[in-house]
Amino acid sequence: MKITVLGSGHSGGTPMIGEGWGNADPKNPKNYRTRPSILVENAKTRILIDTSPDLRFQLLSANIDRIDAVFYTHGHADHLNGIDDLRAINRVMNDWIPAYTNPQTWADIVKRFNYVLEPLKSETNFFYKPCLKRYDINVGQQFKIGAFNIGVMDQDHGFMRTLGYRIDNFAYSTDVVDLPEESFEMLNGVNTWMVGALWEDPHTTHAHVSKVIDWAERVEPQRLILTHLSHRIDYESLSKRLPEFAELAYDGMIINV
Ligand SMILES: [Zn+2]
Repeated sequence: MKITVLGSGHSGGTPMIGEGWGNADPKNPKNYRTRPSILVENAKTRILIDTSPDLRFQLLSANIDRIDAVFYTHGHADHLNGIDDLRAINRVMNDWIPAYTNPQTWADIVKRFNYVLEPLKSETNFFYKPCLKRYDINVGQQFKIGAFNIGVMDQDHGFMRTLGYRIDNFAYSTDVVDLPEESFEMLNGVNTWMVGALWEDPHTTHAHVSKVIDWAERVEPQRLILTHLSHRIDYESLSKRLPEFAELAYDGMIINV
């Protein structure tokens, strides 16, 4: 399977409006970070996790115009608000896109983007809006998309819960400050784990770098990839200080698992 990091940044992106590049060296392209989305694919099936506000730019950069399923981790703007860019995928595929998340996130989507679930007007024959087919999933659930085995993990994001996804030997856990025991169990034996780490100091809703390293020492993935990075993180200087199994994500990064 192949993972593509479409966006490795936090909600503000790097550079961030009003705060610029922070600690990040503007000369290093790996410090230019758009908002979080990733692709997970094999030869037959392609899954998009989250529709970042930068989705149009991200899908053009990765040359993607077909998606078999969209998964949502939660309804915060940096993970959801690019939803309208899915219309272009509907047009290319001439079909509705299956979308998966929990009832709580569906409630957010219905409240803010209810038109994505509404039928097309009968007098039209083209996708003038994004069209998603709703599938409800819940924590602890296991299901299949193509040949992929999917597991849905519960995550604590401070004031709300988010979903983590295990996809075969890969797992994606972003926007998480604590993990319940059952989620550690689902991570058992994972080869590559991509985890959100905002910056190096503790935060109320996001894990910080050393906390994620501690988790990984318990989960023992072969590769730990830190993502959802803020402008306070400089790729080069932090990379040098990470343990051997850990690395930083960057936009356009491709990982073969
Ligand atoms: Zn986020």
